[in-house]
Formats: sequence, structure tokens, C-alpha cells
Amino acid sequence: MSKFWSPLAAKLVPYVPGEQPKDKKYIKLNTNENPYPPSPKVLEAIQAAVNEDLRLYPDPTCQQLIDTLADYHKLSSKEVFVGNGSDEVLAFAFAAFFDPAKPVLFADITYSFYKVYAEFYGLQADLVPLDEQFRIPLDEFMNRENGGIVIPNPNAPTAMLIPVDDLRPVLAHNQNQVVIIDEAYIDFGGESAAALVREYPNLLVVQTLSKSRSLAGLRVGWALGSEELIDGLNRVKNSFNSYTIDRLALAGAIAAMEDESYFLETAAKVSATREATSAALRELGFIVTDSKANFLFVSHPNVEAETLFLKLREQGVLVRYFKQLRIDRFLRVSIGTDDEMDAFLHAVKAIVQP
Ligand code: PMP
Repeated sequence: MSKFWSPLAAKLVPYVPGEQPKDKKYIKLNTNENPYPPSPKVLEAIQAAVNEDLRLYPDPTCQQLIDTLADYHKLSSKEVFVGNGSDEVLAFAFAAFFDPAKPVLFADITYSFYKVYAEFYGLQADLVPLDEQFRIPLDEFMNRENGGIVIPNPNAPTAMLIPVDDLRPVLAHNQNQVVIIDEAYIDFGGESAAALVREYPNLLVVQTLSKSRSLAGLRVGWALGSEELIDGLNRVKNSFNSYTIDRLALAGAIAAMEDESYFLETAAKVSATREATSAALRELGFIVTDSKANFLFVSHPNVEAETLFLKLREQGVLVRYFKQLRIDRFLRVSIGTDDEMDAFLHAVKAIVQP
């Protein structure tokens, strides 16, 4: 606490990202990064953008990137918004759409940044408990009064997917509120709700380059929605920072969206490794949720998750452990290369079957 902090800064409870330790080389399976490098075309495009034009501000409208994303999703450019990672897009969306007079609805076990944003903007949050199998009870999102909804699909950290058609009743029941579908992990086996944007003017779909396009370091995310939603996001963005995406990121992001074959190939490799790792973990007695993301959510009946986490760390393998009610027996394990997952499984086996 400092006397210099505003009342707002003093009451914030910031998000804590997964650790990025520098003390030794770890097999990093703790922050859902992609184990494969970005497309070589992305690196070429960024290198080509390293020139004297860096003295100039980037295009504040990000028009070329927006046009590329609009083509990709078969929408118009007025239905696309881009931001500095999907975290920033989500932060702007909370400010643009959620009504402080009514609670924002999201799951009790979900991406923890939602709670941070709600507190930042002074919104009430109504946490909807996942069921015993960690499924999101969609009925609850149709019955509870709310000033807005956020549903990640697949959910994090459970990794479980909702079929896109199951989202329709939620959208239809909440026509006066915005429903955000956070699709950070959709490319690893899910079907996007992007195709529903024209049908439901209250739908905002949020995606990112961070996971399936191996560009967590570039910080580019986007939203798809009706023109009025995109206008709302632009009002907020242009009240914070006109230049959220720099020239290098713009160049890299366009190249990433244009290299479809590289993206499909790496996403498929991650999904195949996920399936093999799930099967191997089940063989070792683990409970593994049905993941359609680039990570697994796992629990062993005999070994405490915290013990596993600490022992793996000692052996140079980092996974994520959340000391949180209901999920403190689980670990979240990001999917690495086949070699990394073999090393992880080898270490796990030695712990659970000594
Ligand atoms: N949504 C979810 C569900 C996430 O897990 C993450 C990654 N931490 C994000 C959004 C944000 O990703 P980024 O800001 O890198 O696009």
C-alpha cells in the first residue's frame, strides 16, 4: 500500500500469469504457449518491417490487418476489431458493454482475468458453478438476471468444449446483453461461433494469435461482432490509446493469417500430441478431462496435485497448479512437442509409480 495509489489502484487484485523462471532451462508446460515456432513467413514479414518507417506511428485503424481478418472470417471490416492480445480486447469489451447495475455472469472456474476486469471496472460478478463434471451449466446463463456474459470456449483451465449450437439458446435468451465467447483455444478441435455473428447482434467472438499461431510474444487479438459492438470497442480503445498495435506486430499478424497451411499443420500436431498424452496419462491412472484445447486438465487419485507440481518442477518440468477451491487436486499441463511430452510422462511415471 502506498499513499500515492489512487483508491482504484489500492483495491485492485491483479491477475498472476504463469511463471517464466530464468534460473535454469525448463520444459515449459505452464502457460499454454505453442511449442512450435511461428510461421517463417511471419518472421520474414517482421524483418522486412524493421526499417526507417519505425519513426512513424503505426496505422491507428489497423486497416490492413482488419481487412485480412475480415476476409478470413468472411465478414466485413466493420465487424472486426483488433487489440494488443485478446486480454486487451476483453478488457475493452468489459468497459464497452457491461452494465454496472447488474452482475456480469461467468463460471466459477474459468479464466481468472474475468474477475480482475470486473473488479477494475467496479462491476458485480455472479459466478456460475460448473457442474460436478466441470461442464458449464448453460441453463444458468438463461435464468439469471445479468448485465453481460463471458463464456470461454473451450473453457480454461478445464479444456472442455461446448458445441457451437449449444450456445444459440444463450444468445437468444440474452438479446439485450452482450455475450462474449472467448475462443483463445478454439483452433485445437472446436468450431468457432464466428459464423453466428450476423445472426446474433449481441454476440462478440474473441480470438488470438497467441496459441494456435504461436505468437504469444507478438500480442495480437481480435473481436468479431455486429457493427454496433465494434463501434463500442473503438470508442473505448480511442479513449485509452490510439496505437495499440505496433508496426512490427501488424506486419507479423497479417503474415500469420495468410499462412493457413502452416497454421493447420502445427495446430494438428498439437492436437495429435494432446490425444497421445491424454491416453498415456489415463493409462497411469489419471483423470483427464476431454480436452479440445492445447492443454490438459489432470488429476491423480493417489498423488496430490501440489506434490506432483513441486516434484516435476524439481526435475525441470513446469506445469500450472491453482491452489483454488474445487480444482486443487488438478494440474493444467500445456501440450509441448512429442519429445517434451515424453520427458513429462517419464517424470510423471516415476512419481506416481515409484
Ligand atoms: N482468454 C483465455 C481463456 C486465455 O487463457 C488467455 C491466455 N492467458 C487469453 C484469453 C489471453 O490471451 P492473449 O492476451 O495472449 O491473446
